[in-house]
Order: sequence, then structure tokens, then C-alpha cells
Amino acid sequence: MILVTGGAGFIGSSVIRHLLSDTTFSVVNLDKLTYAGNLESIPDSIKSNRYFFEQVDICDIAELDRVFSTYRPDIVMHLAAESHVDRSIDGPGDFIQTNILGTYTLLEGARKYWLSLEGEKKSNFRFHHISTDEVYGDLPHPDEVTGELPLFTEKTSYAPSSPYSASKASSDHLVRAWLRTYGLPTVVTNCSNNYGPYHFPEKLIPHMILNALAGKALPVYGDGSQIRDWLYVEDHARALVKVATKGHIGETYNIGGHNEKRNIDVVKTLCELLEELVPNKPEGIGSYSDLITYVKDRPGHDVRYAIDARKIADELGWTPEETFESGMRKTVQWYLDNKEWWQRVLSGDYKLGRIGEHG
Ligand code: NAD
Repeated sequence: MILVTGGAGFIGSSVIRHLLSDTTFSVVNLDKLTYAGNLESIPDSIKSNRYFFEQVDICDIAELDRVFSTYRPDIVMHLAAESHVDRSIDGPGDFIQTNILGTYTLLEGARKYWLSLEGEKKSNFRFHHISTDEVYGDLPHPDEVTGELPLFTEKTSYAPSSPYSASKASSDHLVRAWLRTYGLPTVVTNCSNNYGPYHFPEKLIPHMILNALAGKALPVYGDGSQIRDWLYVEDHARALVKVATKGHIGETYNIGGHNEKRNIDVVKTLCELLEELVPNKPEGIGSYSDLITYVKDRPGHDVRYAIDARKIADELGWTPEETFESGMRKTVQWYLDNKEWWQRVLSGDYKLGRIGEHG
């Protein structure tokens, strides 16, 4: 049994879809269902008798105790978080609450449960904390002294820039402290930017696709030169399950797609794909790229993130299956084929959705 926190979110739902379709694990999805949680992102769960759902806040220790003793998980995969940088700038409180206090509370719940276990059930237990490359801060592009293009490795010092990345950095430190101090068997992953199906429309790629389809402006921060290392979400989900089941306790694994792209080039790629796939544009639009507009940059905006993912490749044999081109094509096609999903999200009529079907 795997306990996935945040399983109704973008990456958590991809992990659960992968666990249900490609493994024999049972899954309990523990999610508070904030604005970002959407059970309609796990359509397979309806027909699976290996899937359970608990609407629980990771800050609620009594509820966590109940879930641990009811389901007796072998692995915890902790994804629940407040995850949107812009929201963390507008209101950091929820980020401190969920990402720091929530992770602390979950660690305590897991530790209490783990201490109650015996034999192999205890020695095989593991707590996998899912984090971001944003904890490392900014990378020079290129390095002013050496002229090289450095990458984040597992040894890069933490230097978070935003309330979001600072709260994730704090949670990473807590997880390592619970390993060092209490011996809780933990493993940590730090991943670059994800994209793909079921991505909440406020994030860059779906936001641009949906705005373009509606003939609305495509707002790019600053001059669009910020570089992100993009990873297709299903590749991330496969990496996470590999680390959760085969990663070495106490280790950190960086996960990335080897796809460094400037934000403006991501938007231009989307426009080109839409020209090809949806040539009938909204009235008055000559080409989708005419919709690109440059807006005031986000405060504290990091210039470049890029991941060195050699360790997970060498030790666990994981590499991404999708290139940026193939993943972007799949993503645009998914949004074209799944209008109902995103229209319900945009209308606010989602989350529990057809909850009756989930039991
Ligand atoms: P998301 O915002 O799409 O989903 C977060 C989920 O957590 C939602 O289902 C939400 O309801 C749930 N949640 C929030 N607060 C909760 C609480 N207090 N108790 C229980 N559930 C709660 O996020 P995502 O993009 O799927 O990211 C998942 C994890 O991966 C996060 O920890 C994030 O920091 C990390 N990460 C994300 C990216 C990315 O590109 N999206 C990249 C690297 C790492």
C-alpha cells in the first residue's frame, strides 16, 4: 500500500494513474482538495478496487494517525503542497502552513506509525519527499567567471528566492533532520518544471494554450528570457515511483528533462503547434504568436534552472522517454481532446466533481 499525499494535484494524479495502470500497488490518496485538487484527474480510480481516497489536511495529526493505522502503508509519497509561485508572492501564509507545518506534521505522523511497526514491515518502510529544483535558487547563464553553463546537482547549496521555494527548502531540511535525528527512512527528490495533461490552467503552458484558443493575450514575464528545464509529467511520475520503490534511503535524486528552454521559446513552440493543429483561429487573429505580450517581470524571478540528472540515471536507470517536442505535442493534443476537463476547472465546477463515483 502506498500513501500518496496531494494525489489530486497535477503530479500526484499522474503518479496515481501510473501506479494503478502499471503496477499492482494499492493506493490511498490523502488530499485536502484545495483549489488545486481535482479528483477528475484520476479517472481510472473509479473502476479500481486498489484505490482509496481520504479528504484530509496534512496539518491534522489526528486524521493522519487515523489514516496511517487504517491503511498501514509501506511507502509514503509526499506531494501535497501549495505549489504556485505567484500565489506565494501574493499570500505566503498558506505556503508556510502546508509546506512547512504540514510536512512537519506528516513526518511526526509517519514516525509514530513507523515506530509502531515490526520486522520487515518496519525495515522496508520509507518516506519519499517530493521537492523542486527551485530550492537551489538561480543559475548563472553562463557563469560570469568560467563561461560555463552550470547545472544543479544533488550537492548544490540551497538558495531559494520565493516564498514558495523557501517553504519547500524548509520542508526538505525537516525531512533530512527526521532521517538524521530519528532514523526515519527518508529519500528526497528535487525536480525541474513539469508540464503535461491535467495541469491546472494557471500554470504557464496550459494558461498559454487556453488563452491562445480563446484569442486572448499570451502574457510573458519580462523579456521571456528565463530558462526552465522542462520535464513531461508522466516521465516524472515514473521516476518518482522508481525512487520510492528502489531509491537508497538517505539519498537525494535530482530529476530533470535535459530540456532547457527560454519561456518565450516555450510560448512560440505552443503557437507553432496550434497553427498546425488548430488552423481555424478565433476571429481577427492572424497568427497565434501575434497574441504574445510582454508584462512586468515577477519580483525575485530566477533567471535559469537546469538539472544534472545523471545520478538517477546511473543508480536507478531512469531517463525521460519524451523529448520536449514529443511531450509538447502530446500536451497540446491532450488539451484539445479534453475540453470538458479544463472547462469544468475554469468554471470552478470540479474538485469533488463526480465524487459519488469515487465512493
Ligand atoms: P498541485 O498544486 O497541482 O497539487 C497539490 C495538491 O496538494 C492538490 O491536490 C492539493 O489539494 C493538495 N494539498 C494542498 N494543501 C494540502 C494540505 N494541507 N493537505 C493535503 N493536501 C493538500 O502541485 P503539483 O504541481 O502536483 O506539485 C506536487 C509536488 O511536486 C509539490 O510538492 C511541488 O512542490 C512539487 N514539484 C512540482 C513541480 C511542478 O512543475 N509542478 C516541479 C517540481 C516539484
